Amino acid sequence: MGRLWRREFWRLTALVGAGGLVGWPFSAMPAGIAVGLLMCLAFHLRQLRALYQWLTLRPQEEPPVASGLWGELFDRLYRYQKRQALTQKRLRATLQRIQESSEAMRDSVVMLDRHGDLEWWNSAAERMLGLKPQLDRGQHITNLLRDPRFVDYFHGRDYREPLTLPSPIDETLILQFQITLYGDDERLVMARDITRLHRLEQMRRDFVANVSHELRTPLTVLAGYLETYEDMAGQLPPRMGRGLSQMKAQTDRMQNLVNDLLLLSRLEIDQGGRDDAPLAMGDLLEAVKNDAAALSEGRQSISVEIDEARALVGSEKEIRSALSNLAFNAVRYAGKDRHIVLRWRPHGEGACLEVEDDGEGIDPIHLPRLTERFYRVDKGRSTATGGTGLGLAIVKHVLLRHAGRLEISSRPGQGATFRCLFPAERLRDTTPNAQRA
Ligand code: ADP
Repeated sequence: MGRLWRREFWRLTALVGAGGLVGWPFSAMPAGIAVGLLMCLAFHLRQLRALYQWLTLRPQEEPPVASGLWGELFDRLYRYQKRQALTQKRLRATLQRIQESSEAMRDSVVMLDRHGDLEWWNSAAERMLGLKPQLDRGQHITNLLRDPRFVDYFHGRDYREPLTLPSPIDETLILQFQITLYGDDERLVMARDITRLHRLEQMRRDFVANVSHELRTPLTVLAGYLETYEDMAGQLPPRMGRGLSQMKAQTDRMQNLVNDLLLLSRLEIDQGGRDDAPLAMGDLLEAVKNDAAALSEGRQSISVEIDEARALVGSEKEIRSALSNLAFNAVRYAGKDRHIVLRWRPHGEGACLEVEDDGEGIDPIHLPRLTERFYRVDKGRSTATGGTGLGLAIVKHVLLRHAGRLEISSRPGQGATFRCLFPAERLRDTTPNAQRA
């Protein structure tokens, strides 16, 4: 390249010099130089015109023939153009292959641009979501999927969990929506038909609910008679008396289990939200503290801290049940002479209902599975303490219905903290001024 530049420079110098020399005998050296410069300019303008015509009129053809720097420039542009064309061809082929494979998928795939307008979709999307070929292109997705739950999910931009909804064109078809963000804020909406899975899940829930319900009556009868006989235990031989009190203890356990199973099924089946109201957090925490203190029988000290003025909007029964489960767990598992705190405090924009103890704690390897039904860290110990193994599963479900989530932090020997985190939308200002405003 340096060589070409030098040649160009010498060409200019030679033309200008020649012009000057021709003009010199006639005492018109500047005019000669000007002529030289003009010739040089004319040459470059011609090449520029050739370049312009090539690029605008016949870019696919070979470039114009030129020597020196211009020739090199044409060659390079030509090679660059060819490379670009090849890359474009490859990209088009890849895109077509992706579209073909998406087309063959049984799940719906819908590509949206950065505004949420429809760009492309496969035929499964036409079948499941009722999108019309060509006609719906450019429409906003929320004009076609109008269910408020989808609209909230779409605008909420929190796509960690999928959303389950019936299809907009067929109520019996249950779809699971999952949105993925990619590229320049574009979105990919996938919908999968989970009707069969949904039906099975419903059958499982109904089965557990029915069995628990059916077990309730016989258990009540058993417990009733056992209670009566227990009063007469003094008149029985000691071996029979021991058997009687064990039968009573196990019947109580079964009753607790059945009650927790029923509560859990109700939480799963019921949509909730009917008895939502701003809760008097101070009173609620004090009431749970008193229940926990009764269970603790002085083995632990329990305190309440309220640092958040806003109230949680929710079902008092459910929130109380969740908080009681956490507080009772602390009493059961923290150990003797420990301190337990029930706290309502701000957390980011939202708030946090927290139960903290300075007890034995939990090994972090158990934490991810702790909210599973019947998952226990120490099976023998949990049974002995009267737990049903459903406490944290109930807490998790209550929180799901209140847009909250459970966060557990614990280290062996350093206590455990169970945090129920609620977003700001779930809080209500209850100070007299705010109410008046
Ligand atoms: P359980 O009826 O067995 O108490 P949960 O679902 O309420 O069932 O709790 C699951 C397990 O988590 C318990 O078996 C216990 O080992 C552990 N756990 C819960 N809370 C605490 C706590 N505050 N400290 C230590 N371990 C706890």
